[in-house]
Amino acid sequence: MSKRKVSPYQLVVTDIDNTVFDWVNYYVASFNALLDTVAGVIGSTREVLAAEAKDVFTTHGSIEYPFLIQELKSVNEFYGSNIDAMLNEAVFKGREAFMKEASRVLKPYQDVHRTLSEIKRHYPDLPIIALTDAPRYVAMWKLNKLGLLEFFHAVYGLPDPRVPTCEVNRRVKVDPEILLKHLQQSNFGFKGRIRILPDDYEKPGVRGLKTVLMDYELDEPVEHRKSVLWIGDNLRKDIGLGNRLGVRSAWAEYGTRLDQGILASLALFSPTQNVHKNVYIKADDPAAPKPSVVFAAFADVLKELGIEGK
Ligand SMILES: [Mg+2]
Repeated sequence: MSKRKVSPYQLVVTDIDNTVFDWVNYYVASFNALLDTVAGVIGSTREVLAAEAKDVFTTHGSIEYPFLIQELKSVNEFYGSNIDAMLNEAVFKGREAFMKEASRVLKPYQDVHRTLSEIKRHYPDLPIIALTDAPRYVAMWKLNKLGLLEFFHAVYGLPDPRVPTCEVNRRVKVDPEILLKHLQQSNFGFKGRIRILPDDYEKPGVRGLKTVLMDYELDEPVEHRKSVLWIGDNLRKDIGLGNRLGVRSAWAEYGTRLDQGILASLALFSPTQNVHKNVYIKADDPAAPKPSVVFAAFADVLKELGIEGK
């Protein structure tokens, strides 16, 4: 009988956005579809609504705030306290346009599905963890749509979004069915561990990854951390914090090859600080943290794990 391979790592932790899928393409395309549709419904323009969206995202601290439409200034002025009309028209149609575009563009990078399947096949007991700065609900929604959720042993994200209410009559501005999903903190049938980290555990702080290490009893003694492989696209955030903790840091360099036109489109609705949170803009920065290894594709993790190509 052939001897079962032993993984050189005890834990694999991966970022999600621009590491397992192209977040920028997905979000810009889906969000522009939403803006154009809502603009059509209330007689506004993409540019006006994009500028208003910046304010909402700043207030909520996340560019993926899922109740954006009902918080837009122009939408509120158009509907006043007629929440039913707002939900049935602008919110319904805008969400529908977002979802339709998302189903077209929200896809994992090539080989991610196969790579995760191969890891599971060779090392069924090796836990794969998702660690993200996206709100936990949004992260799981994306992993579910990407068809990747089943591969993860745990998902670590930031707190779930706040539900918006009408300033005049305090009515909740969310369709009851969607609200119920959020209140039940829908977990998409996920059987793994779900951890919601405090907002101030956001990267590049080390506390998020440190929590993962502690949960898997790999934080102390510090030599144990070398048995953790951490993958992320953002040199400044992901690789920097990995280096500070002493884990092996793999830079998903492929996630930084971004289309300039799409980045310009992102800048129209994203607060500047969020552009830098969500996207690593490559620059010749000699002070940038140095990764332990550079991945040209997600599948390079198979080499790192001794599964193929070494
Ligand atoms: Mg990322």
